[in-house]
Amino acid sequence: MKPKFGISTVAIHGEIKDKSFHSVVYPIYQTSTFAVEKSDDYQKFIDEVEDFYIYSRYGNPTIREVEKRLALIENCDDAILFSSGMSAITTTILSLVEPGDEIISLRSIYGVTYRFFRDYIPKFKVNVKFIDLNHLDDLKKLITNKTKLIYFETPVNPTTRIVDIKKIVDEVKEYENILTIIDNTFATPVNQNPADFGVDIILHSATKYLSGHSDLILGCVVSRKEIIDKIRKVKNTLGGVPDPHQAFLLGRSLKTLELRVKRQNENALKVAEFLSNHKFIKKVLYPGLPSHPDYEIAKRQMKGFGGMLSFEIDGGLEHAKKFCDSLKIALNATSLGSVETLVSIPVLTSHIKMDESELIKAEITPSLVRISVGIENIEDLLWDFEQALNSI
Ligand SMILES: *Cc1c(COP(=O)(O)O)cnc(C)c1O
Repeated sequence: MKPKFGISTVAIHGEIKDKSFHSVVYPIYQTSTFAVEKSDDYQKFIDEVEDFYIYSRYGNPTIREVEKRLALIENCDDAILFSSGMSAITTTILSLVEPGDEIISLRSIYGVTYRFFRDYIPKFKVNVKFIDLNHLDDLKKLITNKTKLIYFETPVNPTTRIVDIKKIVDEVKEYENILTIIDNTFATPVNQNPADFGVDIILHSATKYLSGHSDLILGCVVSRKEIIDKIRKVKNTLGGVPDPHQAFLLGRSLKTLELRVKRQNENALKVAEFLSNHKFIKKVLYPGLPSHPDYEIAKRQMKGFGGMLSFEIDGGLEHAKKFCDSLKIALNATSLGSVETLVSIPVLTSHIKMDESELIKAEITPSLVRISVGIENIEDLLWDFEQALNSI
């Protein structure tokens, strides 16, 4: 029997091969449409025959090849690739709710997803209840017979707080109609496999670690076959499909995902330890530090602690800005997960539209700086952070 292959093996070899010329690298089918040999062939589309294509909004071989690898990487049956993380998230949610349904979502989620739940989804007469990270013990009290989805992320942006995945899955196990959804962007499938804990649906902004080179925008959903089939039909209508060339770039990046993320894990731990010992730093938040409030949960559910960390600097927003503006290697930019180190100040970027009470609930202060640690040589990164702190 075939052993269960590792993440790099499946990310490199996948499942679908080029049958035309046996090219080692799967070709880019840069085409919007596909000709049939005879008109009767359209019946194959109606019968949903695998590997039969008529139009790239419905399906494209290059995109399909990458989807299959994404499914293998996340230990699930199948996956769908979208033109952005937000397209994956919104199409997935819209596929699974009807008027009158309820969604329970963690409050501290990606800001644009939060606004989709707060401002947009209620237009479809779907009610969203938000739950705070520190009140997750009350989850059961919010569940009603209308609840359809439980939505969360871990590690939480930008504080890297950890949600106990197994606990959430166990709490909702008895409700047959409820599906759990996780945005696994921050953790990556290298560090965290939510399907192994029984999470039903896994989402990614593939713009981040999966592509890892800050050169494209894509998203994906990974799940069981029957759920993916349902979402795929809605995607065919809403139309958030990727360009085949971008899908190819993502497929290329997946081959080095494990190498990149392992290096990011190593670099991030060293950066976290360095900052923890620096006199200008008040607090460092990294799930791999024993001082992190959720260190024990992180150790249980993560294989690596990730490349994201944040810290609070003495002297408030002014010093946070001075630090970011003094860096010589790391770039002051939003986004994350790439080979280059990026820093950002959440109150100026990802959390700009939040008022004070929302920021307090999210545990975000003006002196908080977020770092997405890249794969540069660690001595150079530490030199850069040191000289930027010294210039304050
Ligand atoms: C960036 C991001 C998204 C949105 O993805 P896009 O590819 O920018 O549309 C969703 N969730 C998380 C956690 C993200 O970091």
